[in-house]
Amino acid sequence: MKHIIYCFLHFIFLFSFNSCEILDTYSEKTENTVDPQWEESPKAHKTQNSKVQKTISAPKPKPLLIPRSKNRPVGESEMKSLCQKLDKKFYQYGWRKSGCQYYKWQFVRRSHLGNPIAWVHYGEPEEVKANTTIVLCGVHGDEITPVKFCYDLMKYLDKNQKLLLGNRIIVAPLVTPDSFLKKWPSRTNARGVDVNRNFPTNDWHAKAHKIWKRRYKSTKRKFPGKRPNSEQETIFQVNLIKRYKPQKIISVHAPLTILDYDGPGHHGEGEGHDLLLQMSKSAKGYQVKNYPYFPGSLGNWAGHMNKIATYTLELPSSDNRLHKKFWKLFEKAMTHAITHKL
Ligand SMILES: [Zn+2]
Repeated sequence: MKHIIYCFLHFIFLFSFNSCEILDTYSEKTENTVDPQWEESPKAHKTQNSKVQKTISAPKPKPLLIPRSKNRPVGESEMKSLCQKLDKKFYQYGWRKSGCQYYKWQFVRRSHLGNPIAWVHYGEPEEVKANTTIVLCGVHGDEITPVKFCYDLMKYLDKNQKLLLGNRIIVAPLVTPDSFLKKWPSRTNARGVDVNRNFPTNDWHAKAHKIWKRRYKSTKRKFPGKRPNSEQETIFQVNLIKRYKPQKIISVHAPLTILDYDGPGHHGEGEGHDLLLQMSKSAKGYQVKNYPYFPGSLGNWAGHMNKIATYTLELPSSDNRLHKKFWKLFEKAMTHAITHKL
């Protein structure tokens, strides 16, 4: 229906049928710049880059990349099957359809159970220098609302394309698919590892197991793995960050009801911390807390070690019925975060 109205309006105002093709060219725009088979590791990226350059006929990349197409659903059969599983979950949680099958996904890595670990690229293509934000959801599979939060963000970006100008937003809505998709979702991945304790931080060998045993009494929920970076979901995040070199990362969790910042000036000085306060202000004064970082956590690896502004948004709950409320609460803060240049 929307399509028809859109075309009709264009016909009236522009006296041309050609403008209706705008709707059909979304995926063509992406094809110049994104290949679903790209490896997220820098090494493979290089080889893929040269491959892509050969296929680009225009000298300059198109300015914007809008990864959604109403007319050309994703053909990749593995993604199709993941989308079907995801839609079942969405139905079960009383959410609307995810729209998963309409996105131009990129993935190269699969989880232990073979599910693609995928992301969507919004905004400026990789060849263009741009303010880049990576948004990660579903790192812990039993945190239900964050997954919907990322899909709500993607829907919002689809509708507000002016936000993409000069910005690049990489959204990975389901980092740990195996845990979210199973009947009783769990915090750990299919191999029983807490992905957010598995990053290759400097203190991992000395402290990860010690803290897990002493402070967490060897609770299975927080097992950091046998060695750092042993899990596909961790490798995925590490490589995604290495590839896109974001200025900031936002990892969405639940239910601690805090906004936490790790990165340059995490004690309260500097631009990264200022953005944290602005995000909190845009979300009705959402509680800011300087949560300690752990051996193997994203905050430790990306924020502390690699000096990337890393925000952990802990939503108030995993209650699937509250997703609308959460997105409403953070819409302004997320808009601010992805458009703000650090
Ligand atoms: Zn979590």
